[in-house]
Amino acid sequence: MTFYIAAYDTEAPKCLDACRAIVEMHKRHRMPATFFIVGKMLQADPDEYRRLLDDELFEIASHTYSHRMLRDNPFCGKQIGPADLREEIFRGKEEVEKTFPGRKCIGLRPGCSFEDGLKGAPDVLKLVSEAGYEYVSSQAWGPDFTLPAPLNQAFTYAQDGYPNLTEYPCHGWHDNVLKGTTKWPTPKRMLAFPPLFPQAVPDGFVKTPREEFQVNNKFFIDLAIREKAGYVSLIWHPWSLMKFDPKMEMLDITFRYVKEQALGTLTFEQMHRRAKG
Ligand SMILES: [Zn+2]
Repeated sequence: MTFYIAAYDTEAPKCLDACRAIVEMHKRHRMPATFFIVGKMLQADPDEYRRLLDDELFEIASHTYSHRMLRDNPFCGKQIGPADLREEIFRGKEEVEKTFPGRKCIGLRPGCSFEDGLKGAPDVLKLVSEAGYEYVSSQAWGPDFTLPAPLNQAFTYAQDGYPNLTEYPCHGWHDNVLKGTTKWPTPKRMLAFPPLFPQAVPDGFVKTPREEFQVNNKFFIDLAIREKAGYVSLIWHPWSLMKFDPKMEMLDITFRYVKEQALGTLTFEQMHRRAKG
């Protein structure tokens, strides 16, 4: 069975308001989700985040402490130093656990993520393991940091010496790039040639929730079903969803489709527990 995992990179002050509309849509559809949240955002309004997200439908995981780069990313910047790495990794987890008492934060999604996840990054892996994370979701790009990200599936970091740490890559476009909600002053080299997924490359920024669904969400969900993939998980940012589509129509369309296709639905934590048996 292929599972669908809804997930959000919750990273900016505007994400809190967006989460209100997102949570409503999730409750309407009884759709689970993982919220990866930046520690500093939780610090700014812990009560409201707890009120909104302390629900059995949701997993709360870390999106680092303040969204600084755990590795080099050509679009988002250079890797930070060792002391800062430790703070991003450890304090991110602590803030989640402080805000949601009784819950263990087992997952980490780094800011912006990377082409190879954390493969070949012993400094980062060591800290992630020491902090007590059980999984990371850090692979969110195609070859040479292109988009959309392919349908890579879970693997462990055994080759790097961490067999107990699992990677869950995420898939498709970063929604803010596809819709142009992040304004870059110049065009960016984002596409592979030849393209890996020509049908998932529109002529320009997508303009409507329906188009977003067609070009990206439906494409990758259908691909996952065709390839009998274990799971598919798209890359969403609450602030960007809100800016483009305040009624969260895209979520409504997508969740309906997921149910029509009879996909299973889970959080990353549930996926991880299943895999571990
Ligand atoms: Zn982020």
